[in-house]
Amino acid sequence: MSLPSAEGASPAMAQWFALKAQHPDALLFFRMGDFFELFFSDAEAAAAALDIALTTRGTHAGQPITMCGVPVAAGNAYLARLIRRGFRVAIAEQTKKPSARSGKQPLARAIVRLVTAGTLTEDELLEAGRANLLLALVEGGAGWIDISTGRFATAATGADALADLIARLDPAEIIAPPGLPLPEGAQATAVPPPPAPSVARARLAEAFGAASIDAFGEFSDAQAQAGWLALDYVRTSQAGATPRLDAPRSEAQAGTLGLDPATRASLDLLRARDGGDDHTLFAAIDRTLSGSGGRLLGSWIAAPLTDRAAIVARQEAWGWLLHEPGRAAMLRGALRAAPDIERALARLSLGRGLPRDLAAIRDGLAACASCAAALEEAADAPAMIAALHGALSLAPGLRETLERALAERLPARLEDGGVIAPGFDGELDAERRLCSDSRALIAGLQNDYAQTFGIASLKLRHHAQLGYVIEVAASQAERLRGHPELILRQGTAALARFATAELADLDRRIAEAGGRAAERERGVFAALVAQILAERDLPAAAWALAALDALQSAASLAQGGDWCRPEITDGADFAIEALRHPVVERALARAGGGARFAPNDCDLSPERSVLLLTGPNMAGKSTYLRQCALAVILAQAGLPLPARSARIGIVDRLFSRVGAADDLARGRSTFMVEMTETAAILNQGTSRSLVVVDEIGRGTATLDGLAIAWAVLEALHGTLRCRAIFATHFHELADLADSLPRLRPHTMKVREWRGEVVFLHEVVEGRAGRSWGVHVAKLAGVPAPVVARAGRLLASLERQAGTRPAALPLFEAASLVTDDGEITCSVQATDVAELPQGGVDRQDEALREALGAIDCDTLSPREALEALYRLRAML
Ligand code: ADP
Repeated sequence: MSLPSAEGASPAMAQWFALKAQHPDALLFFRMGDFFELFFSDAEAAAAALDIALTTRGTHAGQPITMCGVPVAAGNAYLARLIRRGFRVAIAEQTKKPSARSGKQPLARAIVRLVTAGTLTEDELLEAGRANLLLALVEGGAGWIDISTGRFATAATGADALADLIARLDPAEIIAPPGLPLPEGAQATAVPPPPAPSVARARLAEAFGAASIDAFGEFSDAQAQAGWLALDYVRTSQAGATPRLDAPRSEAQAGTLGLDPATRASLDLLRARDGGDDHTLFAAIDRTLSGSGGRLLGSWIAAPLTDRAAIVARQEAWGWLLHEPGRAAMLRGALRAAPDIERALARLSLGRGLPRDLAAIRDGLAACASCAAALEEAADAPAMIAALHGALSLAPGLRETLERALAERLPARLEDGGVIAPGFDGELDAERRLCSDSRALIAGLQNDYAQTFGIASLKLRHHAQLGYVIEVAASQAERLRGHPELILRQGTAALARFATAELADLDRRIAEAGGRAAERERGVFAALVAQILAERDLPAAAWALAALDALQSAASLAQGGDWCRPEITDGADFAIEALRHPVVERALARAGGGARFAPNDCDLSPERSVLLLTGPNMAGKSTYLRQCALAVILAQAGLPLPARSARIGIVDRLFSRVGAADDLARGRSTFMVEMTETAAILNQGTSRSLVVVDEIGRGTATLDGLAIAWAVLEALHGTLRCRAIFATHFHELADLADSLPRLRPHTMKVREWRGEVVFLHEVVEGRAGRSWGVHVAKLAGVPAPVVARAGRLLASLERQAGTRPAALPLFEAASLVTDDGEITCSVQATDVAELPQGGVDRQDEALREALGAIDCDTLSPREALEALYRLRAML
């Protein structure tokens, strides 16, 4: 949609064109009185997205101007919908009051803000428990800012780590210079290229009042450039205002557990594959009480650690709370009442603070004080708790000021008045008194006038246009006409209204005092905001509240005794007793029906580091695989595990390939996706990685698939020498245990009872007898004749193949070459032709044909008997 030329535009439209040119890709919300109006193509796009009426107003270049509008009062709701649909919106406000208008010039307007998905601050537009990140990318570096909380971080990223980083941060918006290669599926807003590294460094340092950014850590050139891009974009979006931001952090990727996008997608950490929030690891373990605590806990799960000391520090902190129930209860009481200080601070720093944001700081400071009190005199507290306690112990000055300053019942907006409590500011009180005294004076005057003029029913009223007037019934107006001090302002059939100089004077005094009171109140408000922003320890205290919340959440999980504190080692240990899948367990409990989750052990100790898992579909293989992967995430996030006990050696990268990786929408076959992901594991994994794979090779023909699964298993065992769990429907692979010493075949225990299969969800050492796929088909509602036919086929196959799974190997050689990331297989099938499938099908066809050829109506009894013998002979 293109815009017409601005030539010949009316003055107001000329202003619109000029503002639109500042942000041509954004929709322009043009303030006109009580409405934001949109014109031309903006109007068409917004009307369609918001489902509101499109009309026309005036003409431009001889054509009607299309327009639509949204009320300012409901502006945020419309903004939210537009941002969710991927639009960016520039807001042009009137910058002068209408009274300052001169002649026929349009009111002065300026863009006060560019609203984009990554730069939101309003509670209505944000999710309380989720970070809202803007991510800036340059070649080799990334910088990200959560403007709603002030977090600012950067990292050096190679092209291969970019996808992992994006998956981990889950940004609301990405910005990048044009032409920067992005991982598949990522979309970025194009921004101008960054300045030279030295310039970026200098500007960043200046923005945070430091001589050099070295003061904040070590930054590569690309990190500094990406950091500056992010900061510059945020400033532009706020029309030059800088929100309160932490100084940039330089994050070493090395400190966190490597998780690629496919792994995250298969594990439903913060978001589920179904798009919801409910069936996620986060939902299953979240016991936080505040929005900021929830966000922090989410970031712990999104980026588990690899540094043992850091993991143990968190464990010790919640472990201590677990044994201090009294203190923990006090903490919870305080956290429950703790508002979101971080987000309130962000709005205040942008001059967008509401009265309730001041109240949030006041109540947040009270919560800090109560939490600090709960941790008082704890000599045995671990280091992390002691540090948090220190951060919470703020000087009480600001809190006392806010407690005195804010009125008991706060209005929604500052303009509504009554934000500041009486008794806090002498001057404000005096102005307010003038107002109320004058009002009291007027109330007294009514009596005086009634007596003076001898009209008992005389009333003093405030009238929108006339101000204060004397009001009498029309029948009595005559009696007042003789008084020169009364000026008739309005007479109707029913009543008459008179003004007096005295009333006019009082009226003016009330209006003036009201104006001064409002101005004074704005001044006091601004001074309070300045005092809050000057409190340098407040952001650290807000973080401490969030951290205590995340820790108490962990302690609450561990409280019932069903969750344990894993022992973390720097070795290759992996031994977990009675491990459960927290999400499936929760879903079973919620569904009722008495089904209980069956816990399983997992032992990948060095002498048995590769676990091969076979078993029928629906027996619980993928659940088992996922729960082992989730155990690593939880353990390295420093959180409790749903297990009886655990000892885990730190994992450097976790690869999980569980569940159908159907990527057909993106034009790649299931098999291609599977092989790309397998290549990634074999290329990036190390001996310290944990690999959890399900059904490698299912996307291709049986022999191909078996060959590939075989070779991958050998590579995991022999080349990578990592810890691995490998689920497969190729039961034949269990035979490899004879040649691969660390391979341990396991199977899901299944019982057959009166012809039905019962899944026990129990992982036991050994190999599977049969596949039970036919039974599962029946369970799933596949029509009975098809199930019966499959059953006959299976029996026949088993007869021909001898007792399963003996007839192996089916082929002689399989190899996998991974040096250059390519997978090649060479397979020599020995007896494909003898496989039974085709035989059975042909026989079946012949029988069918013979039966069809018989005409039952013309057969003699003897012919019928002969036909029967013939058919019998065909079997
Ligand atoms: P598979 O991967 O073998 O096809 P799943 O892991 O998808 O099987 O499990 C199928 C269903 O069985 C799950 O949806 C779950 O409800 C149930 N299930 C799996 N493991 C357990 C368990 N350990 N205890 C109880 N129910 C389980």
